[in-house]
Amino acid sequence: MTLSALSSDSSAKSSTLIYDLHCHSDQSDGILSPEALVSRAKAQNVAVLALTDHDTVAGVTRARSQAQLEGLDIIPGIEFSSQWNGRGVHIVGLNVDLDSPSLMAAVTRQEEQREERAHQIAEKLEAMGVQDAYAGARQHAPEGVVGRPHFAAYLVAQGHCKNVAQAFKKYLGAGKPGDIKQLWPELEEVVEWVLQAGGNPVLAHPKKYNMTRTKLCAMVADFKEGGGQAIEVVSGKQLDADTRDIARIAEKYNLLGSCGSDFHAPGGAWQELGNFPRIPDSVEPVWSLW
Ligand code: MN
Ligand code: MN
Ligand code: MN
Repeated sequence: MTLSALSSDSSAKSSTLIYDLHCHSDQSDGILSPEALVSRAKAQNVAVLALTDHDTVAGVTRARSQAQLEGLDIIPGIEFSSQWNGRGVHIVGLNVDLDSPSLMAAVTRQEEQREERAHQIAEKLEAMGVQDAYAGARQHAPEGVVGRPHFAAYLVAQGHCKNVAQAFKKYLGAGKPGDIKQLWPELEEVVEWVLQAGGNPVLAHPKKYNMTRTKLCAMVADFKEGGGQAIEVVSGKQLDADTRDIARIAEKYNLLGSCGSDFHAPGGAWQELGNFPRIPDSVEPVWSLW
C-alpha cells in the first residue's frame, strides 16, 4: 500500500503522520531511558517511532510498553555497525522480529566485537598517554557496552580534552588512533541479518560518510544488490539540496525512503525527535511495506 492510498482510505490527518524511524535511548549512546524517549516523541507529535539503538534491541520492549500508555506506535529497530571497503557504515534494521534466533546471534556477535574493540581503543589511548582507559571509559557506560562516547567522556573527565568534540577530533574520530572499525562485519552480512530477522534493511544517513557521490553510489549499488530495501532520504534537519540528491539516488537504485531524527539527547537542535523535512513525494516511503 502506498502512503497516498493509506491517507485516502483513512482520515486526512494520516497524511501528516510523523514517522521518526531512527533514534537512540540510554540502552546505547542516547541519554534518555526508553520510556522518557517515547514520552518526548509523543510531545513532539510523533505517531510512529522506531527505536534503533546501536547493535542492541534491549530497549524495545520497554519503549513499546510506554508507547501503549501514550498512544503511539513502536517499530522494533536496531542500528548495526558494518563496514564497506574498509569504511564504517551503519545499517538500520526496521520491523525486526525480536525473537528471531539470527537477530539474537547477530546482537551477541556485535557485543563481542564491541568489547574487543573497546579493549583495542583503550590500548591505542594508553599508547598516547591516557591511563586506565578501559576501566575509565567503563565508568561512563553504566548501561551497556563501552563505546567511543564513553572514552570521550573519560578523556574529558581526565582533562585530556576540553570537550567531547575535541576528544573525537584528536583521539577517536575518523582516521584517529581510536577509530577502530576493522572488526565490524561486511555491509552485505548485516543486510542479511536484518532480512533473516524479517526486517527491512535501511542504509542510514548516507550524507554522513563523507564519500564522493561516485563512491556513495557504488556502496548503494552493493547495498541494493545484497538485499537492501530503503535509504534514509532524510536524517535529521538537513539541506533541501541533500534531500533532493538522496531522493534521486533512491529512485535510481529503486530503494524505498526512510526518515528519522537520529536523536541522541535533548538540546541538539539538529536532532530533535520528529523534527526534520518530509520525504519527497517522488520516493515511496518504507512504511508502505507495513
Ligand atoms: Mn550514536
Ligand atoms: Mn549512525
Ligand atoms: Mn544513529
